[in-house]
Amino acid sequence: MTARIHVIGAGLAGLAAALRLAPHGREIFIHEAAPQAGGRCRSYFDATLGMVIDNGNHLLLSGNHAAQAFLREIGAEDRLVGPETADFAFIDFANGARWRLRPNDGPIPWWVLSSQRRVPDTRIRDYFAPLALLKAAKGTPIGAAMVCKGTLYERLWRPFFLAALNTEPGEAEASLAATLLRETLMKGGRACRPLVAQPGLSAAFIEPALAWLAAQNVQITFKRRLSNIVFAEGHVARLDFGHESIAIDAADQVVLAVPPVVAVSLVPDLPAPRSFRAIVNAHFKIAPPAGLAPITGIVNGLAEWLFVFPDRLSVTISGADRLLDTPREVLAERIWQDVARVTQIAQPLPTWQIIREIRATFAATPEEEARRPATRTAFPNLFLAGDWTATGLPATIEGSIRSGFRAAAEILCLSRNSI
Ligand SMILES: Cc1cc2nc3c(=O)[nH]c(=O)nc-3n(C[C@H](O)[C@H](O)[C@H](O)COP(=O)(O)OP(=O)(O)OC[C@H]3O[C@@H](n4cnc5c(N)ncnc54)[C@H](O)[C@@H]3O)c2cc1C
Repeated sequence: MTARIHVIGAGLAGLAAALRLAPHGREIFIHEAAPQAGGRCRSYFDATLGMVIDNGNHLLLSGNHAAQAFLREIGAEDRLVGPETADFAFIDFANGARWRLRPNDGPIPWWVLSSQRRVPDTRIRDYFAPLALLKAAKGTPIGAAMVCKGTLYERLWRPFFLAALNTEPGEAEASLAATLLRETLMKGGRACRPLVAQPGLSAAFIEPALAWLAAQNVQITFKRRLSNIVFAEGHVARLDFGHESIAIDAADQVVLAVPPVVAVSLVPDLPAPRSFRAIVNAHFKIAPPAGLAPITGIVNGLAEWLFVFPDRLSVTISGADRLLDTPREVLAERIWQDVARVTQIAQPLPTWQIIREIRATFAATPEEEARRPATRTAFPNLFLAGDWTATGLPATIEGSIRSGFRAAAEILCLSRNSI
């Protein structure tokens, strides 16, 4: 009998695992608790705004090779769009300075030699401070490896690391920041082009993946929440979904691609991150003025990144736990003031929406990094996937897809060895 593979969770990690397993002649079943796929990376119709929006603005960089491989494999490569070269607009509210960050394409960073291309009021040597992160031992916070103050820190390193780690950089794990540097900035502008899913996350990542998997006979069931895993003789022996159960043979495999709080409730003694960081997104229904950069970084504001869409302006604030108790109306008004300042729109607050994702990502601190588990578990037929597993990356689309690819690779490697 063909071994069966059960993937629990249809977020990007689960979909990526299924994508890589599907061509290998197994019966694959995906079980998803929600009525739709995508998890933290999806689009939905927002009734207040009267439009389809993403659950959060997601920014990728052209150095995110797994995300691009995923899109290529499902035939949706063209749905991740961005400028031809790395180009980020910035404004500092402290003094109104505006500049563009445009690293040159190749790995030798000659752009820092040009005062026209450097961040205003910064010196060449400031750009090399993060090299210390490359040598930092695992478990070292960024704040202990490099100086987290000064103009370049405030105007470049803090916005870059905060956005990618969703954790205040001073307290974040240096090795995660080092990986980001190696895979993007140190490769040059070619690996730093900002990319956004068009027209949205589901149309780019989720719907084409579901269509591709369906064509490979992968069966996906929604509203099927895994409530219990029965272990027997050191293996997963049964999956319970409420009133329904599925017997698992020792030759079958299970990929658990659920968030960490769910995984620890299902698997005994599983190490996993326990603290999380919020992300706040604010959306304003207004046609953007002509000539606005697609993405603007805001320094010394409440808003951190402004994204321009054809029908709205949208703001992301990372590590936003301090804003969880602020009334939504107050937040909308304060963030709109920042948007109006960047865009020079002299208009009262338009129709808005505030979305607070309380557990957007695990906190990228050394303590939480140390708790991230490997793909393989103590049970030979149970594998883990998810942005919170030990990918060496922060909780990102790139990390979740790599975790799914890795789970698939481990399963395929195991079956090759057992032939
Ligand atoms: C607001 C926000 C902004 C973000 N911005 C960015 C960004 O700019 N760039 C970037 O790269 N990343 C960003 N991320 C992170 C990115 O979205 C995540 O890293 C990625 O989507 C995680 O995918 P995953 O599959 O690991 O987990 P999830 O998406 O959490 O998937 C887990 C799935 O398991 C399902 N599930 C849970 N319990 C069960 C159960 N018992 N049985 C069956 N199914 C279950 C869930 O419904 C879900 O579908 C952002 C995240 C948020 C929330």
